[in-house]
Amino acid sequence: MNDKNLEKSRLGALVYDPAPESASIANIKPSYGLFIDGAFSDASSHEHFVTLNPATEEVLSTVSRASDADVDRAVSSARRAYEKVWSKTSGAERAKYLFRIARLIQERSRELAVVETLDNGKPIRESRDIDIPLAAAHFFYYAGWADKLDHAGYGANPQPLGVAGQIIPWNFPLLMAAWKLAPALAAGNTCVLKPAETTPLTALVLAEILQQAELPSGVVNIITGDGSTGAALVEHPGVDKIAFTGSTEVGRLIQQRVASSAKHLTLELGGKGANIVFEDAPIDEMIEGIIDGIFFNQGHVCCAGSRLLVQESIADEVLRRLVRRVEQLRVGNPMDKNTDVGAINSAAQLARIEELTAFGEREGATRYSSSCVLPEKGYWFAPTVFADVAQSHRIAREEIFGPVLSVLSFRTPEEAVAKANNTNYGLACGVWSEKGSRTLWVAERLRAGVIWANTYNRFDPASPFGGVRESGFGREGGRQGLEAYLNV
Ligand code: ADP
Repeated sequence: MNDKNLEKSRLGALVYDPAPESASIANIKPSYGLFIDGAFSDASSHEHFVTLNPATEEVLSTVSRASDADVDRAVSSARRAYEKVWSKTSGAERAKYLFRIARLIQERSRELAVVETLDNGKPIRESRDIDIPLAAAHFFYYAGWADKLDHAGYGANPQPLGVAGQIIPWNFPLLMAAWKLAPALAAGNTCVLKPAETTPLTALVLAEILQQAELPSGVVNIITGDGSTGAALVEHPGVDKIAFTGSTEVGRLIQQRVASSAKHLTLELGGKGANIVFEDAPIDEMIEGIIDGIFFNQGHVCCAGSRLLVQESIADEVLRRLVRRVEQLRVGNPMDKNTDVGAINSAAQLARIEELTAFGEREGATRYSSSCVLPEKGYWFAPTVFADVAQSHRIAREEIFGPVLSVLSFRTPEEAVAKANNTNYGLACGVWSEKGSRTLWVAERLRAGVIWANTYNRFDPASPFGGVRESGFGREGGRQGLEAYLNV
């Protein structure tokens, strides 16, 4: 036992021996091409970029950078597959493929979890227990809808849109791919998917799974690249629908680009979720909910409960307990099964978190950061709670997208609602109270797409997810998630 652990065990904290998952399960190839028309091929420009393990800064693999010509090739492949095959494939037949993909994700779940954790930096416990099972669940769920579209509430025989261009972010790489692909395919569309540049690997393993499932060539094309590849997909005249999840800034840009075309559009953008806690809430559960709401996935969560609104009468106690709980979070090797908080996904994201938190201190908020020892290599940020935050502070207004909680207080339900709504975003909120009537009163007045009561960060394929205002529009998940891919 090293000195620090000895000190911790003397203080009564639990000390864990390392329990790392084996990286060899990942089986990552040294390089990957673009998945177009059912096969992997090099980019026409032969340009590549590397993807890193953010916990160690080691290169994991090299992937192709799709140029405009490659985007064109992928869209043409999706169009051919739509016209010749997929639009003529019955719902029951499409369901068989989706069920097959879901089962293959389950079969290869351990490999996928390891790849996700290596490429993204999130704890293996989360990729193993949340990301991968939920991705499979989305395919199972939408497989169930594929032959029942007549009963989805969009009239008889609703029609697909055609070719969907789908652009996803790096925080839940495989899960976001599943959120996009499963409903699109169930509804009868073909797809061109672009994963984020820092986390392309699980989408490429998924491409292998699509081959294993013998999904007809061109029904799904997966092209890697950066923002310029995404922009080329948005601009392509052969695309009928754009589905985007990412920053509000890029979402706004895409909305402008798409405005002059007939393309359908759904956007799932940023957030600044408020977790509202009343004095009558069960405090132990509430503390865990607040912790999970902000530190899950290092806070790289668009619906994160990044603002805590706490009733004044319990504010001191809640803050004391939170600070203690933050100190207990195990930060470090994402591959360790006991890790709670992993690595920040990229140097750029770390710089943004550092900039905003430095601003928080300068603006007068009180900072409590975990005293955990951070690894020397890789991108790391100690879990942090800010008290004495004013609504005007940048840390109360801007999305930090990191393990940083801003605590504000309120006295009355009216004030809680006013403060929670005092944001340009509107993705998610949490309400903690023993009184159902109070929870409903508050929930009715919150401007957010998703509201959790006495819990936070709960996801289910049957439950629609999406925002209002600057958090975007359109829903993913549930029956409503089909609407985004049907001509209704
Ligand atoms: P974040 O700030 O979370 O990284 P971004 O919005 O920058 O989010 O990225 C989300 C996805 O959008 C990524 O796949 C990225 O490559 C893509 N992207 C970035 N810029 C553009 C753009 N101008 N047009 C289309 N896609 C883009």
